[in-house]
Amino acid sequence: SDNRRENLYVISSRAAKFFRETMWETEEGKTIGLGYFRERGFRDDILKKFELGYSPGSWDALIEKTLAEGFKESVLEDTGLAIRNDKGKLYDRFRARVMFPIHNFTGRIIGFGGRTLKTDKSVPKYVNSPESEIYHKSNVLYGLFFAKKAIRDLDNCYLVEGYADVLSVHQAGIENVVASSGTSLTTEQVRLIGRFTKNITILYDGDAAGIKASLRGLDMILEEGLNVKVVLFPDGHDPDSYVHKIGSSAFKTYIEKNQKDFILFKTSILLKEAGSDPIKKAGVIHDVVESIAKIPDGIKASVFIRECSSLLQMEERILIAELNKLRLGKS
Ligand code: ATP
Ligand code: MN
Ligand code: MN
Ligand code: MN
Repeated sequence: SDNRRENLYVISSRAAKFFRETMWETEEGKTIGLGYFRERGFRDDILKKFELGYSPGSWDALIEKTLAEGFKESVLEDTGLAIRNDKGKLYDRFRARVMFPIHNFTGRIIGFGGRTLKTDKSVPKYVNSPESEIYHKSNVLYGLFFAKKAIRDLDNCYLVEGYADVLSVHQAGIENVVASSGTSLTTEQVRLIGRFTKNITILYDGDAAGIKASLRGLDMILEEGLNVKVVLFPDGHDPDSYVHKIGSSAFKTYIEKNQKDFILFKTSILLKEAGSDPIKKAGVIHDVVESIAKIPDGIKASVFIRECSSLLQMEERILIAELNKLRLGKS
């Protein structure tokens, strides 16, 4: 019910306040949490804007605090802020982690991501809130509340992989940035972006495996009628590490210079892989035309047919025949 949901919003916002106060006002929080963020190069104004915090290294600090204030155990459990062990005892989900509150697009806190400060692999790097009545991962984009005005004004949305990427890119003055946060991009997320702009630019982590794997998933964005561009970063870099390495203004220049239209990007990558093998090349043509067939706008599609025919060194009419075959097959 609305009342139940409201309780979940209230506890989430209370927890965020607790994590903030722990980070800014306690010795442990200042030394460990705030120290960590500053070490990574995040400015205080960004930490405050995104309401970042720190969860203390205790099994029940948040539970004790909120129960004493009259919150019910059930709301802690329903948001996943507390977990019940097999002996029936509650413990805090987030312990000794820097905390990224996740806002819905109206700005209410609906969940959290928590990053460990450990450098070994003894615990998962990120722990996230589970799905709840107010938090549906597949419908949420991290940072959208802080980005939506810039997305609309600039008529473009940058899409990154992680929380830290959103913060760093935003801090560099590029405010139209959101993250899918670990899950592969969903149709709901693309439709959410589509309410603000029809243009998405994907800022990938620079590892070849990831790029290849996601080529297929991106066709979905075309299907939703949005335009997609891609920027690749040098191997081993993500937007966060790269902007810290080269600085804000060089980063902006890099993005401008290196953005490639997704279909042309896909064509050139597949082509490079196929080399001179004619059968592989035929496969590439099929793959590329399949992407083009996803574009609902026929005029746009024919522009891509022309550009790809020159990249593939293949007559336009052959690509068009292939396209028509796919389109007929669909209906
Ligand atoms: P950082 O810069 O803090 O090391 P990152 O954002 O670069 O983190 P990636 O490994 O690139 O981390 O992962 C991208 C995103 O995927 C993260 O921001 C997080 O949302 C999600 N993620 C990563 N590792 C995990 C995990 N072990 N469990 C759940 N989600 C994860
Ligand atoms: Mn990655
Ligand atoms: Mn990353
Ligand atoms: Mn990173």
